[in-house]
Amino acid sequence: MNCGQKTNSVFTLNIYLTYDYEIFFGNPTGSAEKCIIEPTEYLRQIAKETDVKLIFFVDVGYLIRLDFYKNTFPKAKADYELVLNQVKGLVEDGHDCQLHIHPHWEDCIYTDTGWDMNVDRYKLVDFSENEIERLVMDYKLYLENITNRTVVAYRAGGWCLQPFSKIRNAFIKAGLKIDSTVFPGGKNIKGAYFYDFTSVPNKDKWNFSYDLCLEDDTGEFIEYPISNYRYSRWFFWRLFVLGRLQPKLHKSIGNGNPIPSIGMRKQMLTKGMTLSASVDGYFVTKLNKIVKQNKIKGWNETVIIGHPKASTHFALKQLKKFIITQKATAKFKTLSELV
Ligand SMILES: [Zn+2]
Repeated sequence: MNCGQKTNSVFTLNIYLTYDYEIFFGNPTGSAEKCIIEPTEYLRQIAKETDVKLIFFVDVGYLIRLDFYKNTFPKAKADYELVLNQVKGLVEDGHDCQLHIHPHWEDCIYTDTGWDMNVDRYKLVDFSENEIERLVMDYKLYLENITNRTVVAYRAGGWCLQPFSKIRNAFIKAGLKIDSTVFPGGKNIKGAYFYDFTSVPNKDKWNFSYDLCLEDDTGEFIEYPISNYRYSRWFFWRLFVLGRLQPKLHKSIGNGNPIPSIGMRKQMLTKGMTLSASVDGYFVTKLNKIVKQNKIKGWNETVIIGHPKASTHFALKQLKKFIITQKATAKFKTLSELV
């Protein structure tokens, strides 16, 4: 039985375009202007033209650290004001700003030459339970003070939210209801990362309590997983070749580098890889297919991830086309609409 077709009359398709709003954490980190401000202005324009609302998972730790250094370094002050004003502008436009935590900001230092990044404590679980509570509460409150809206949803920095049992008390105290971190099939337990989403419910959303990959009908939280896709090795070959041949179209607007992912590139080019449904760069070309794949499964919810810093001019053009195509049958929603 194909639920998607059988229940056509009541079938609703919701699409959530989510963006992790942040600079890079490798070397160099890139600038606020190129990684955040410029690409987000393009996204705002597309959202306006197509009349959809976007979800921005704001890397609040970055803002808190800029705030801390703004009276010592004029560049930190300029960046702080740029980002703060843009976040306020996003809220005015009706976009959703939710919580994204990269806790390593606690250990990063601003110098005359920019950020001195320290990613030794990259994951929230690298901190004690008391510190996790303080971080989640403080960061949430900081964002709410900027946006004047209640924060209800979370996405973990680098997808690292396991073991969730160490974090759940912080979620309860902060009043967080929705998580959108999981992408089914994803796994990376090397280097700074630790996530394993290889065993998750085969559903478009589920309640959970102590383990975000385990459905619990009585759970306090609801997971809206990011959709996934099995990208072939040919896909990655095309992606890397296009970046070299047509850099103006296919190079990221952001001017920094990510933290290296050990062995990833080799696996991509030899075996292919299951990754999240993404609006970044060449990944955008698979979005219509992913929505179709979810429809066939009878799923109502399709969460897509993106990063302003990883936007390319090619991807921005394709994004607009994707929204126009899907708007005929789908609803583009925000997460704050859900509670
Ligand atoms: Zn992030």
